[in-house]
Amino acid sequence: MKYRDLQIQTQREAPNNARTEGFSFLVRAGYLTRENIPMKLGEYALDHLRNLSNDSSVFISQLSLATIGNENETFFPIASGSIEVAHCPSCKYTERLELARFAKPVGAEHTPSLPLEKVLTPDCNTIESLANFLNIPKEKTAKALMYTRISDGKFVFVVIRGDMQLSEVKLKAQVGNVRPATAEEIVSVGAAAGYASAIGLKEALIVVDDLIPQSQNLVAGANETGYHLKNTNYGRDYSAQIVADLIQAKAGDTCLNCGNPLSVLFGIVLANHNEYDFENILLALAETHHDDKGLTFPHSAVPFDVYLMHLPSKELDTRAKAEEIYLAVQNAGISVLFDDRDERAGVKFNDADLIGCPIRVTVGEKGLKEGMVELKLRKIKENQLVPIENIVDQINSFLN
Ligand SMILES: [Zn+2]
Repeated sequence: MKYRDLQIQTQREAPNNARTEGFSFLVRAGYLTRENIPMKLGEYALDHLRNLSNDSSVFISQLSLATIGNENETFFPIASGSIEVAHCPSCKYTERLELARFAKPVGAEHTPSLPLEKVLTPDCNTIESLANFLNIPKEKTAKALMYTRISDGKFVFVVIRGDMQLSEVKLKAQVGNVRPATAEEIVSVGAAAGYASAIGLKEALIVVDDLIPQSQNLVAGANETGYHLKNTNYGRDYSAQIVADLIQAKAGDTCLNCGNPLSVLFGIVLANHNEYDFENILLALAETHHDDKGLTFPHSAVPFDVYLMHLPSKELDTRAKAEEIYLAVQNAGISVLFDDRDERAGVKFNDADLIGCPIRVTVGEKGLKEGMVELKLRKIKENQLVPIENIVDQINSFLN
């Protein structure tokens, strides 16, 4: 391909909306617009990745990316990612945060069940205010969340420990799609908003987190505004149709596999089973493979192995010679981007660095007089002069 055919537009300045260096370089090198739309060069790179994925079942592992994942999904951690992923740095357990499992902190000793006791708790309609008012830790409270199932209008009453957060994704996996219950629906099952518990409800599907049966003497709502019950106990005072893990993990929770703390990372999805997100893969490549001058794509990922350019000159027709080399390199099956513009050397060198092909070949007047062209690897500072007739062999020796 020729530079002009691809209508490449490079930019000196980083776009001011760039949240990562990888994205910034993809825009500056002319792969993407600032609005994250692939330009011609970007489309070319994406097609290259698509072709690679057809040829190999271990496609992503060839791209030298620090991915994390599980048997279903492969993620790339990146600050601009929109997906939160729980990850264990020790055993590599990885799962979307809302689905991640963790070892819940069960109290050390099993305390005997104490009798129920109704207590006045004015203005305690949150776990925070309740725990403060009674001067107890949040883990000694039960939190109620009330929903209505979309499919049949069934009232769904959820109980989790007061120090935990519900994962709605986990809840929906148990009961189907739900929406928050309305005030009328809450009254109709005999509950009171802000002071609700599962005790004595009519016609509700009761779903409790699996930590609840292991937690004794919790403070829960009395289903009467302004009152709570002390010492509620699952099994004695109420039971549930569903007991399951309903809790969203957070950073520092204990890995269920190995007992080490989980991290929570932002990421993007590169693959879901064998469905690839090629735009995300291109971003992951740029994020991983760049230096302060531009992209440094690896041979395995790059749409062009060689950036070929001529330095315009007065005495010799460097462009015609470059054209010959272009054809010879292409005929040898090597992918090459030919910068055929009559631009100054500095402009072309900068663009070559930005675009990030592994090998740069420069046809200049000085070398040409001795039958030589300059060859430079993108990641190495020094260049070397190579006799024109050896250029294909020399390129191949770097690629293989
Ligand atoms: Zn682990």
